[in-house]
Amino acid sequence: MRITREFDVVQVTFFPRLFPVNVYLVEEEDGLTLIDAGIPFSLKGILATAQSLGKPMTKIILTHAHSDHIGALDRLKETLPQAEIFISRRDARLLAGDTSLLPGEPQTPVRGGVPKPKAVRTQPNQLLDDGDQIGSLVAIASPGHTPGHMSFIDTRSRVLIAGDAYQLQGGLAVSGRMRPLFPFPALATWNREAALASAKRLAELEPSVLAVGHGRMLHQPAAAMRAATADAQQRFDLAGGQL
Ligand SMILES: [Zn+2]
Repeated sequence: MRITREFDVVQVTFFPRLFPVNVYLVEEEDGLTLIDAGIPFSLKGILATAQSLGKPMTKIILTHAHSDHIGALDRLKETLPQAEIFISRRDARLLAGDTSLLPGEPQTPVRGGVPKPKAVRTQPNQLLDDGDQIGSLVAIASPGHTPGHMSFIDTRSRVLIAGDAYQLQGGLAVSGRMRPLFPFPALATWNREAALASAKRLAELEPSVLAVGHGRMLHQPAAAMRAATADAQQRFDLAGGQL
């Protein structure tokens, strides 16, 4: 396990060498907000890191409902029954095991590890829409990796926690753009066109730090994010929109 801090955001990394999976503890005045719940193995490390910060974990937010982002959710909720659970209105359906697409959405199949119906016992307390505020964080709809993927920007520091909308492991890339050294986020992406549009929107936020689900945090990332979107756009155009 590796712990890295930027401003009020603490990155906790499991299996940093093998298959790095990040969760984030965001420190607020009166408590901690966990962003993403890692894999089942992450439970102990998340609780120990929260304890070392000396504040109660009162909120758990999920960027999306893939298995490597919700793994410890049920056991965290059992341990901390008071914690409020947040996920986007759209990905709440995935969390419940419903992979059907809505009318008007691109009809590409949902990919990646999604729970089977009733596999996750925890019910969200609040369903998030674009622009909702949770403590110091603002929710930013960033669909593409999953239909309801969300990112969160800390309004105090402009640290952007972008889930799998980007990856940093194996090189900075937009979700859906294959990085041979770490191909998993690309393989798990629902719709590359939507992911690219979201990645462009996130780059325009001019974050101070980019913090994602897989890979180390990146300082002053906006130029690199724009370059990554240009690269993905070029690939997309070359492939005639297929990628
Ligand atoms: Zn994912």
